[in-house]
Amino acid sequence: MLFELTKLLYKLSYKSCTKCDQCAEQCPWYPAFKPSERVKGELEAVMHCTMCGRCVLACPLSVPVHKRVYDLRVEENILDKELIEIREKSEAIGHTFGVKWSPVVNRLKNMGYRVDEPAEWLFVPSAFDSLPQSFNDLLSEVWLLEKLGYDFTLSSVIAEGFGNFIFDMADIDYFKKKAKLLSKIVRELGVKGIIIGECGADYKVWPRLHLYIGEKIDFETLLFPQAIYRKLEKVRPVRKVKGIVSYHDPCGLSRYNFVIDEPRAILKKVCENFVERPPKGKRQTCCGGGGGVSFSRRLVNDAIKFIGPKKVEQFKGVDIVVTSCAKCKSMLMTYSLRLKGGFRVHRLSYVVAWSMGLEVPRP
Ligand code: SF4
Ligand code: SF4
Repeated sequence: MLFELTKLLYKLSYKSCTKCDQCAEQCPWYPAFKPSERVKGELEAVMHCTMCGRCVLACPLSVPVHKRVYDLRVEENILDKELIEIREKSEAIGHTFGVKWSPVVNRLKNMGYRVDEPAEWLFVPSAFDSLPQSFNDLLSEVWLLEKLGYDFTLSSVIAEGFGNFIFDMADIDYFKKKAKLLSKIVRELGVKGIIIGECGADYKVWPRLHLYIGEKIDFETLLFPQAIYRKLEKVRPVRKVKGIVSYHDPCGLSRYNFVIDEPRAILKKVCENFVERPPKGKRQTCCGGGGGVSFSRRLVNDAIKFIGPKKVEQFKGVDIVVTSCAKCKSMLMTYSLRLKGGFRVHRLSYVVAWSMGLEVPRP
């Protein structure tokens, strides 16, 4: 009932958009696309929205443009062609990237990490972490959780939090099915909650699952930077990250969950020279990867053209940009490489684990 009422209120608020364009410059795609074009339902504008929510901050009526885009994608299937093809393949295999989780989780099991065992928490990684090139990021997360004293297990069937299926692929029915599976595994394992690995889409959806599927969950959710921050006294670097280090807030953390100060407090502990490169926090400019953009070559190329130069300018002179989302990492790395930004990009878990002694290449 409350769910239906909220949906109705959102629909009424879309209608209140006056097309004044006061929000236009907040959009990472501006001047190529404007939020008001999304509210109108213009196809290319809808496909190019990252659902970052930054425009809402400037709107005098707080029109939730990102929710309008979400509704249009789910109800009218307005998605980039490439994304529709990817969705079909991904859903057939049951993984965002259409890869198998079993070799990865078995590798961790052979290293001594618990899988399908009773514990306090279930660790749910990012879908990116099943890819071979992300193994060190995944290892950093589990190594760190253990080092910080978390009693956790992995699951042999839960490779990801499936948030990409809702925010990127816009298939609410498929997501619901997978959310049910994850909830079942939580009950079977008897854990008190899930620690959500570094995935912006999973950060967005799990703490407010009722807004998306109208059902409440009866377990806790802990976002990865929150998990580190809770045990900040145990973050004891044996070596500090050198160079000028800055931070990019994933929208799933800053705008959707107000997790802003925690990653900065952590980075100040493990880096020699942490600097702020504004805008920060809820005003952070989007990396351009959300809403399915990072999965489509066409949309990524457009992001390199319209969003990349802004991010490269923001981090000019920085040696390492840290973020806490696999998708943000991938987009920022692409910009740095393609537009000669000159900065390296790492995940928060990686730099913290390295500083605490994990044997992975220096960030
Ligand atoms: S990309 Fe972000 S700022 Fe632009 S319209 Fe979409 S939600 Fe708003
Ligand atoms: S979303 Fe708000 S700020 Fe943007 S055009 Fe509509 S009314 Fe104006």
